[in-house]
Amino acid sequence: MTLIAQPKASHFVDGAYLEDKAGAPIEVIFPATGEVIARVHEATPSVIEAALASATRAQADWARLKPVERARILSRAAALIRERNQSLSELETLDTGKPIQETLVADATSGADALEYFAGLAPTVTGESVPLGRDFVYTVREPLGVCVGIGAWNYPTQIACWKSAPALAFGNAMVFKPSETTPLCTLKIAEIFIEAGLPPGLFNVVQGRGSVGAALVTDPRVAKVSLTGSVPTGRKVYAMAAEGIRHVTMELGGKSPLIVFDDASLENAVGGALLGNFYSAGQVCSNGTRVFVQKGIKARFLDRLQARTEAIKLGDPRDPLTQMGPLVSAAQLDRVLAAVEAAREAGARLITGGYRAGNNDGYYMAPTIFADVTDDMALARDEVFGPVMAVLDFTDEEEVIARANASEFGLAAGVFTADLARAHRVVAALQAGTCWINAYNLTPVEAPFGGVKLSGVGRENSKAAIEHYTQVKSVYVNFGDVDAPY
Ligand code: NAD
Repeated sequence: MTLIAQPKASHFVDGAYLEDKAGAPIEVIFPATGEVIARVHEATPSVIEAALASATRAQADWARLKPVERARILSRAAALIRERNQSLSELETLDTGKPIQETLVADATSGADALEYFAGLAPTVTGESVPLGRDFVYTVREPLGVCVGIGAWNYPTQIACWKSAPALAFGNAMVFKPSETTPLCTLKIAEIFIEAGLPPGLFNVVQGRGSVGAALVTDPRVAKVSLTGSVPTGRKVYAMAAEGIRHVTMELGGKSPLIVFDDASLENAVGGALLGNFYSAGQVCSNGTRVFVQKGIKARFLDRLQARTEAIKLGDPRDPLTQMGPLVSAAQLDRVLAAVEAAREAGARLITGGYRAGNNDGYYMAPTIFADVTDDMALARDEVFGPVMAVLDFTDEEEVIARANASEFGLAAGVFTADLARAHRVVAALQAGTCWINAYNLTPVEAPFGGVKLSGVGRENSKAAIEHYTQVKSVYVNFGDVDAPY
């Protein structure tokens, strides 16, 4: 895999690459070596204008197409993504540092899933007819217009596809701003859309930091904003969108509970906790980072957890045998190391890891487990977004439900138990938008995904996305005379 990833230009607008070197430069760094692999420029006001103007223009014609015609183009894009999975996965690995064994199965492929799913769903979306005696009302689901997508850096390809697939399927245009940390992958998706036959302007990519995102969110031509990011950013973007009464989807952070009862299958529960904390080096929003373990299984659980964690192969993400790569950036590594230090000082018991790993060029963090974590510690309250697992003890069901819910977040939750009646009872009581029983972090496109409380509003994927990328028009049809009293 070559280390040169320079795109043809920084932005993709109206069907073609676009450059404007007047914008502030952004260096793209390969997290495994610290090397600069590409440079892009932030969008200038003229790039932002071109993106919004072409999206507005293109959307009007796109909305008039039959859904099945839009679907055909999205299906072609999905097929092209699958054909190019190898090169797209290599680029995702360079952009994010995630191991190639993950990116080959989790990123472009899940993007293609979303395009296929929404291509299939688009022609099924219909309104309803409401009989009113002599008269009737019919409803039509119409597109919102120009939607803005703003991405986080952990899943750049997936996030771009999860947002653009429903937006486009239901007749909208999308202007997408990737995270400034991972600006490369989305440009390839834009190229593929054009090859698949998407009319120019319907999917534009503009690069930049928060200020570019803010310029998009506040533009009067924009009808909707879908953000994947942190809670502080979510607050700002939500407030800006509110000024223009825009629709929003907010996919924000979490500190999700993963509850292991005594009767759970030990290996499955350990496997779930490992996947829910260490996949993508822990940089997954829905991770089950508060692992509540019932006291009867705790000792055996910690033994197996430690053994399986210490066998994880940390290394160069380009090596197909590598199971965990570096964190995305030096800044993220510093944040994670600070959280580990704070946990140590607060009295959490370090089971394994806790240090920067590898050479000092890459941003590697050893997979880390703390036991005896208590609810008041920062490690049990704040999102770390790195490979740091907190294990907490509990005694009974009622107690663990109350403690699991005592969080400002509510993105996800998992329960491991052999007692399915208990599993459903616990899940019913948990304040979380996405739950798993005897599994963790499975996010098929068929299932709604999103959070409650500070973790967000709206849902991505599934039929629920229809609500978030269309609006209902209600049409009253009168067959009689108008009965005016004056
Ligand atoms: P971030 O909030 O720093 O940035 C997210 C995006 O928002 C970036 O593209 C950034 O440039 C942009 N942005 C920042 N300030 C802005 C502003 N004022 N106006 C408009 N846009 C602005 O998040 P991050 O560090 O890139 O990602 C990590 C966070 O994302 C974590 O909290 C994680 O939990 C969350 N996340 C959530 C999901 C989910 O689906 N719920 C998925 C992945 C990541």
